[in-house]
Amino acid sequence: MEGGENTMDFKTIIARQAERHDSFYLYDERRILEDTERLKRNFPQVDFLYSIKCNPHPQVLRSVFRQGFGADAASLGEVLLAQEAGLPKEQIYYSAPGKTSADIRGAMGKAVLIADSLGELGLLDQLAGEAGLSVGVRVNPEFSFTGGPGLSSKFGVDEDQLFRFLRESPPAHLRIAGIHVHLRSQELHAPALAAYYENMLALAERVWQVLGYELEYVNMGSGMGIQFSPEDSPLDVEALSRAVTECLDAFRRAHPSTRLIIETGRYAVGKSGVYATKVLDRKVSRGVTYLILKNTLNGFARPSVAYMVRRFSQEAAPAPWEPMFTCKDAFGILTLKDEPPCEKVSLVGNLCTATDIVAEGLSLPRLDRGDAVVFTNAGAYAAVMTPMQFASLERPAELFLTAEGEIVE
Ligand SMILES: *Cc1c(COP(=O)(O)O)cnc(C)c1O
Repeated sequence: MEGGENTMDFKTIIARQAERHDSFYLYDERRILEDTERLKRNFPQVDFLYSIKCNPHPQVLRSVFRQGFGADAASLGEVLLAQEAGLPKEQIYYSAPGKTSADIRGAMGKAVLIADSLGELGLLDQLAGEAGLSVGVRVNPEFSFTGGPGLSSKFGVDEDQLFRFLRESPPAHLRIAGIHVHLRSQELHAPALAAYYENMLALAERVWQVLGYELEYVNMGSGMGIQFSPEDSPLDVEALSRAVTECLDAFRRAHPSTRLIIETGRYAVGKSGVYATKVLDRKVSRGVTYLILKNTLNGFARPSVAYMVRRFSQEAAPAPWEPMFTCKDAFGILTLKDEPPCEKVSLVGNLCTATDIVAEGLSLPRLDRGDAVVFTNAGAYAAVMTPMQFASLERPAELFLTAEGEIVE
């Protein structure tokens, strides 16, 4: 089973917690440390930010920040979470479309602010006033993630618009200190990421030439994917590192005062989590065996969403729409039984709606009331992307297993 170094160990821990909770997330710190270490080891030239939105559990934040990661904050709320977790201003990057004046005022002095549009640059200029302010800009570059021409986007400022703006009407009270680009999540192909990073460094050179001074940071955003379906090959981080080392090193030599930044949410914590729920009831209706589970659509929604997409899509492999939908078979469905599968069941939830379905015709060992079903890949975009308020049902617990083997509730 995923999530732990020692298979039996982790299974036993889940079984023990299943005696105390009918539905719960369990995040394994050892896996977080392993995955974040791999990044740091392979990219010594780069500083990492953790994208809080994928999992803001306080223990998860503490664990990732202790690894030296800064914060990629998608809201003022996340800026404050990062601050409460002890990060200094220089380690909190606040980048989101559609910030209000209150968001900006609230984050000033607490985070590095990244403007998402020309309008927002104007607003920042106004709020900064005579005191002045150092800000970053999110750029929509003239290349796409796959290297083609730039695309239209709700995020950032188109590269040509930004350059025209900086040449013709630079903001009076702002210093543009850095750039931020994020074009894609869940890329598993190392050469595609390597080509993207190279394009990013070329963009940084263009910005530097227009500004006429060194950038403080070049934030290359995220992109690194994790293995969801057993049919996916995991991203080869070592190969990616080998492919980009020379280019990153050359950039660092040419611009020693510019930080290179990579953001990640899912790569740091996505594999660390499982979601466990229990069979509340079992029935046979006109030949179909139903296992009614606690909190599925309203506990861990994405397996139900994946089922829904598969049911309605005409395509064999519907395109991902991150982070809501990744692919079919994105989540392993396991039991704690050692017996082989012996029956086909429909896994459904305990909501009073017929659409609360996780799987149909799934082969499993015989499960009865009280037995656990475990979903993998539940560390990122899992609890936070689930509508837990529906029908006023009890929420799943969120448990954290420390590297020392202790459970924190
Ligand atoms: C959500 C987000 C990320 C994190 O993406 P992952 O695929 O989880 O690594 C990084 N940067 C930005 C700007 C984002 O919006």
